[in-house]
Amino acid sequence: QEGPDELPPGVWDRIKDHPCYSESAHHHYARMHIAVAPACNIQCNYCNRKYDCSNESRPGVVSERLTPEQAVRKVLVVAKRIPRLSVVGIAGPGDALANPDKTFATFRALREQAPGLKLCLSTNGLALADHIDEICALGIDHVTITISALDPLVGARIYPWIFHGHRRYEGLEAAKILAGRQLLGLEKLTERGVLAKINSVLIPGINDHHLVSLNREVKARGAFLHNIMPLISDPAHGTVFGLAGQRGPTAQQLKAVQDECSGGAQLMRHCRQCRADAVGLLGEDRSEEFSLDALDALV
Ligand code: SF4
Ligand code: SF4
Repeated sequence: QEGPDELPPGVWDRIKDHPCYSESAHHHYARMHIAVAPACNIQCNYCNRKYDCSNESRPGVVSERLTPEQAVRKVLVVAKRIPRLSVVGIAGPGDALANPDKTFATFRALREQAPGLKLCLSTNGLALADHIDEICALGIDHVTITISALDPLVGARIYPWIFHGHRRYEGLEAAKILAGRQLLGLEKLTERGVLAKINSVLIPGINDHHLVSLNREVKARGAFLHNIMPLISDPAHGTVFGLAGQRGPTAQQLKAVQDECSGGAQLMRHCRQCRADAVGLLGEDRSEEFSLDALDALV
């Protein structure tokens, strides 16, 4: 995949120890997610609110929710125990930027108490454009935006409603506002030099034919990586709203869409759809080892 020679000057240094942005880093560097953001400002049809945000995670996982103080304490313990820890991210269990007070209080404290760690966040993008200054001021160098549709006709089948500017929007209007806000947020991040990764959830029959043009659109606006993730249908936990019974793609369907996107924004193919309180190397789950109850014994 990527190496220092294929990237613009300076970019390699920013990604070489981030396990999601650099495929070669994921064998060597650990990341952790801290689940400080419970609320969400949109509804995705595939989301079951009882569990983690499925934009970033597998369904059916309930992460331990933390206050900013608890989260900072946990990060400091994990950093001591896992010296390869390089990145701390907020990816839910709802939307990081639908809970800006909690998210930024946590990041501010981490900047002071653990200045060597990279900070990263994941969002559906609706509120992103309002927080660019704060993101840059805190040196949050990696932001993931989940964009699964830009065409409102496709988006309306994925997002039944959004809550924006103190009111609720539905249907085509909601999908149009969301897509516009996501692209605006992406453009603003790019302008400020923040590395933006786009996640798209591949939903067969809904957006599979749309993701190639989406890939081109986000590339044109400076997205650094595009991560096309399979919808994971989960009969045990159920998809709640409009996609009940919807199946996820097969491995071949996923690969076909990824292959069709080649030549556009660079694809990430090693995402593990980690839980919102994941700890360790990608693919490794040490969240229980570092649960709040376990922390006291670890200090
Ligand atoms: Fe659920 Fe995440 Fe979508 Fe919010 S953004 S509705 S938490 S999947
Ligand atoms: Fe990285 Fe994917 Fe895990 Fe997020 S969900 S931390 S992008 S591997």
